[in-house]
Amino acid sequence: MNLEAVKEKIRQVPDFPKKGIQFLDITTGIKDAKTLKTMIDFLYDQYKDKKIDYVAGIESRGFIFGMPLAYKLNAGFIPIRKPNKLPAETITESYDLEYGSDSIEIHADAIEEGANVVVIDDLLATGGTATAACNLIKKAGGKVDSAAFIIELTPLKGADKIRNTGVDVISMLKYDLD
Ligand code: AMP
Repeated sequence: MNLEAVKEKIRQVPDFPKKGIQFLDITTGIKDAKTLKTMIDFLYDQYKDKKIDYVAGIESRGFIFGMPLAYKLNAGFIPIRKPNKLPAETITESYDLEYGSDSIEIHADAIEEGANVVVIDDLLATGGTATAACNLIKKAGGKVDSAAFIIELTPLKGADKIRNTGVDVISMLKYDLD
């Protein structure tokens, strides 16, 4: 399945969750078996020849893509979650939003020193969320191999933000949207 055909399966919803946001809805992609397979196979192809110890998925849509990737790579899966969801001791990282700030957490004992970790989310916009996720992995003792996304909104330059922290970025579908 070519990339344009995959893009056609992703629904665009204007003004969600608020006015001015063009929401890229992956639910219409993942409900189609061929599209789902093309997406997961794309991610798998990036990493199949590397030694990846863990896939870290960012809540919540990063879980959808991260878990099958981990399974295919024979790697473990680590959830990066919104605050106060993980039950044991956590490490927290805050990041700026357009208005205010947000934070994400990882279990403090989730990663062995030096383990090779891939960070996965559905979509890269400004890169704030994924940069915070990469920082969490490093704080927890891991090495971030790269961050990978199904969708990248290129005008927002999130990839540059992540690369500036020394982490490689991979994305399947590029959109000229901001
Ligand atoms: P950012 O931190 O700005 O890179 O935002 C990335 C996070 O917000 C990801 O977890 C995305 O799922 C979500 N997100 C941001 N913009 C959109 C959008 N236009 N459509 C769907 N999800 C989005």
